[in-house]
This record gives sequence, C-alpha cells and structure tokens, in this order.
Amino acid sequence: KARKRFGQNFLHDPGVIERIVRAINPAPDDALVEIGPGLGALTEELLALNPRLQVVELDRDLIPVLRTKFFNYPDFRIHEADALKFDFRSLVRDGQPLRIVGNLPYNISTPLIFHLLSQSGVVKDMHFMLQKEVVQRLAAVPGDSQYGRLGIMAQYFCRVQPLFEVGPGAFRPAPKVDSAVVRLVPYDTLPHPARDLDTLQAVVRTAFNARRKTLRKALAGLIGADRLRALGIDDGLRPENLTLADYVRIADALTGDRTGPIPEVGDD
Ligand code: SAM
Repeated sequence: KARKRFGQNFLHDPGVIERIVRAINPAPDDALVEIGPGLGALTEELLALNPRLQVVELDRDLIPVLRTKFFNYPDFRIHEADALKFDFRSLVRDGQPLRIVGNLPYNISTPLIFHLLSQSGVVKDMHFMLQKEVVQRLAAVPGDSQYGRLGIMAQYFCRVQPLFEVGPGAFRPAPKVDSAVVRLVPYDTLPHPARDLDTLQAVVRTAFNARRKTLRKALAGLIGADRLRALGIDDGLRPENLTLADYVRIADALTGDRTGPIPEVGDD
C-alpha cells in the first residue's frame, strides 16, 4: 500500500514510463542513479538498459520487494537512505559523473533539488518527475510569477529544460496535482560565477523574502540604494525583475567588503 508520508505515487502508465526512459536515453556504462524507486516501475525499464543502476530508497519495507524483483541483476545496488542527507559523491566510481533520475516524492522535492545542486559538481545530468508548478519555478525567467530562489539557484548551476507534462492518471494513487518531467544539466563552466556562493544565496533569499517590495526596501539591510544604482540596477524594481547576472553583481559587490558570511533572514 502506498504511503503518504513518503510521498508515494507509483507510476503505472507504460507510455509515460517509456517517454521518461527515452528522454534519459541511458547507455549501458552510464553511472545511473535513481532516487525513490518505489516498487520499481521505472527501475525495471532502466535496468534493462543499464544493469549497473544504483537506487536510493528511504522506505525500508520496499527494499526486500526491490531485491526480490531484481535478483537477477548482480550489479544492481540498493542504498537504503534518505536522499536529502545522502552524499551522492560517494557513488562516483573512476571519476565518472552521475546521471540522476527519479519520480521524486513531491513533499520534499524543493529541498532535495537544493541538496543535489550543492553536489552538482559530480553530476552529468538529472531527469525528474515533479509537480508541474515546481518545474515552472525551475524554468521561470524574470517577470514570471513563479520566478524566485529555486529557479535562480537551479539556473545558476544548470541548464533547465522542461520536457513534458503528465496528468494525475499516470500514477497510483493519483496525486491531486499535475506533474511534469524536467531535465537539469549542470554547466561545466558557470555562465555567471559568483565570487562567493553563500553571499549569492543570502542575497537571493533576502530579496525574495520580500518579493512584493521594491529592491531598495527588500535589500535595505544589505546594500544601499545608491550602491545598487552604481551597479546599474534600478532600485525601484522588484526582486522578480532581476536577472541571475544582476544578483551575482550585487553579491560580488558585497563579497568585496566583508570578512564573514552575511546573515540570512527567514526562509522562502
Ligand atoms: N519511482 C517510483 C514510481 O515512479 O513508481 C516511486 C515514486 S514515489 C513518487 C517516490 C518514492 O520516493 C517512493 O518510493 C518513496 O518511498 C521514496 N522516498 C520518499 N522520501 C524519500 C527520501 N527522503 N529519500 C529517498 N527516497 C524517498
């Protein structure tokens, strides 16, 4: 029986599973990692193409199910662990970057994406099924109502490519929301590298804690209006109007004049 607290909605539409596998296009020697294999609907198709698949699953009751179902794949590895705390770097063999996939538990998808972004140095690409709204946030551009911290930080590290939408009927039990599949490809060279990542994160977080205010007010505790203007940024704009490059410019200006980290305020 599906467990709500683990965000379990199992895929059962073979057409959707096939579309996901085709989007991933796994090669036999890829370092493929699936998060939250559940009862193995996607796992089964992935294993057929990549017998070295590794999975990370938190629900201990599913582990024997997966072991039994895939006993004939000797290289298949199951890690019983919380993906939110999991060190994905520990899965890297011979320096080969990871290809991470998953129909993620929607209740933890945002913190999980932030966790994976922090380890994106060992990641070749990621394909995720997510709540449609989360995919919209990941891909949002300045001016969009969904534009915010998640999209900015995802786009700092990755090229974000929404692939296709999936209705509730593809899952059992059916979730209450629409879903979508997205591809995230970490950049080899960041297009807008910040001098200090923590400062960038603090600036973005502070700005979007007051997303309805003008930048002048939202960032008042960090940087003065005159300094914003000197950076070529109109302080009368709202946080949702600034590009990633603008936020990096602000963060870099602040990085120059401090020795310690800047204080973070609140949460999204
Ligand atoms: N991949 C399966 C499918 O498509 O049918 C299951 C998807 S279900 C939406 C999410 C899966 O993630 C469940 O198997 C759940 O037990 C697992 N899960 C939930 N929280 C997790 C966590 N923190 N770490 C790893 N797996 C987790």
